Amino acid sequence: MTHTAAKEKVIGIPRAMSFYNNYPFYFGFFNDLGIKIVLSDVTTKQTMSEGAGLVVTETCLPIKVYVGHVLNLIGKGVENILVPSLQSIDYKIYNCSKIRGLPDLIRNVVKQPFNMIEATLDKSEKGKGLYEFLAECVAPFGITDKSIIKKASKAGWRCYNNFHVMTKSGIPYSKALSYALQGKVVISESTREYPISIALVGHAYNLYDERVCMKLIDKLDKMDVKVCTALQLSAEQLNDGIATLGNEKYWANEDEMTGCAGHYLKDNKVDGLISITAFGCGPDSLMIERITRKAKQFGKPLLNLTIDEQTGEAGFITRIEAFVDMLFRKKRANIVNKIDIKEKQNTYNLKTDFIEVN
Ligand code: SF4
Repeated sequence: MTHTAAKEKVIGIPRAMSFYNNYPFYFGFFNDLGIKIVLSDVTTKQTMSEGAGLVVTETCLPIKVYVGHVLNLIGKGVENILVPSLQSIDYKIYNCSKIRGLPDLIRNVVKQPFNMIEATLDKSEKGKGLYEFLAECVAPFGITDKSIIKKASKAGWRCYNNFHVMTKSGIPYSKALSYALQGKVVISESTREYPISIALVGHAYNLYDERVCMKLIDKLDKMDVKVCTALQLSAEQLNDGIATLGNEKYWANEDEMTGCAGHYLKDNKVDGLISITAFGCGPDSLMIERITRKAKQFGKPLLNLTIDEQTGEAGFITRIEAFVDMLFRKKRANIVNKIDIKEKQNTYNLKTDFIEVN
């Protein structure tokens, strides 16, 4: 890292992977310290293909996208780029090996010169907790005072908590993010009535990157479908969801998969589930197997979709439309069935009355 770069206090954050979970925190934290954040541009076809071009084909799509975002930041002339190694986010709760080894992967595939800030968070190891992680993030800018870092972390938590208060109240992801970054908290319950509800199960980086999931949430909304996600649930609800699937939390992003699925499988207001997973994702394939088994037990329709950079939008949307259509038909059939049963009961009562009179 050059002396000039340290003076500029500019940090590049790739708009990929943990960005979708942690950006409100980073925003509050780095701003409090006077460090300007430069984000990579939104994902495009080019981001995907450039990233995919540098890694082996079997690598999952989110990692290919991440590589593309690092290249985008380098292209913008950003010298200091945060590439965290998020090992474990709680005691013995681990991320997958690709997330843990992200700095190593980037170092091996991206050959352009830049300064990688490879902070490590490992809550299973002593001395690798959040404050140490944050200290590593800002050390290249000459910030070492622990009390300043602690104070800035409070600003980070404020922004992060505001974001989550809003998503839990039902504010969509992008709106909640935009309000949180403006320092606002807007809680407004939507009064719109939806005929059916679907739970979307997947990692934030797969659901909220509009290019990766092909604006699925907007599309479902236009189909008159209420979308439920892990972001609307509390930690207790997610833990309960994981327990519903009969296992203990092991993977760091299990909340977004088994926690979310387990909760909504039990929710009678939710008509079906759609899971979005990346092709070649080991942890997800294990979790999807358990979710599929449980969905059968609960008799709840589930559509499992796998994505990679070759996924065509037309085929993807056709499958979703067919699933939504099936849910609408099922709901209609249930309503008709209930009316039929009621009518039969009425007919029976009339007959009984007649017999009693005789
Ligand atoms: S959890 Fe799966 S999708 Fe996410 S980085 Fe790891 S392998 Fe890729």
